[in-house]
Amino acid sequence: MLNIVLFGPPGAGKGTQSEKIIASHSLIHISTGDLFRKHIGENTELGKLAKSYMDAGNLVPDEVVIGMVEDKIQENLKAEGFIFDGFPRTVNQAEALDTMLEKHGLSISGMIALVVPEEELKTRIKERAKTSGRIDDQDDDRINNRIQVYNKETSPVAEYYRQQGKFTSINGVGSIQDIYGKIDEAITTLEV
Ligand code: ADP
Repeated sequence: MLNIVLFGPPGAGKGTQSEKIIASHSLIHISTGDLFRKHIGENTELGKLAKSYMDAGNLVPDEVVIGMVEDKIQENLKAEGFIFDGFPRTVNQAEALDTMLEKHGLSISGMIALVVPEEELKTRIKERAKTSGRIDDQDDDRINNRIQVYNKETSPVAEYYRQQGKFTSINGVGSIQDIYGKIDEAITTLEV
């Protein structure tokens, strides 16, 4: 199995690039943000719980996220692999992911991190706010909070994978196609 963690701050382009990756590699896309938004849309208990955290730009508690991802992995054990988008977002989540994959004799093949300067992230999120309908895209306070949470709680996850020799970083500024080209090259090296 090819199991990739696509990593980067809010607005780095993980969702956009995941769509391109799954169009040419048959991987199951697990986006925790999309899964939560689906739950919110369906007004499930999980959705009600996640909504207040998400709207403020805070992280949903680890145990909730981890349980949701575990269910998705269980449902897709016959897949050719997974692309994890927006997960893991804490070192605790990264450790839990390793443990749940190990249970099935699986592991992460590599992390691909998209690097984008903070000002560019803010510009992109504000542009996305016009069409995303996402409350967490709507104002400076929420956007700044998400970036702060990323710097404090999520960026150490990169180090976690670096220590395992699984870290690749890619410049996330440029055309969508050029960035995808670099991601695809990185994936090829993971496959061999
Ligand atoms: P972005 O990367 O643009 O911030 P996402 O769709 O990945 O957007 O996430 C939106 C929100 O969903 C996060 O701010 C957080 O509240 C919640 N969320 C998504 N994934 C996780 C996760 N792995 N752990 C905790 N909260 C999460």
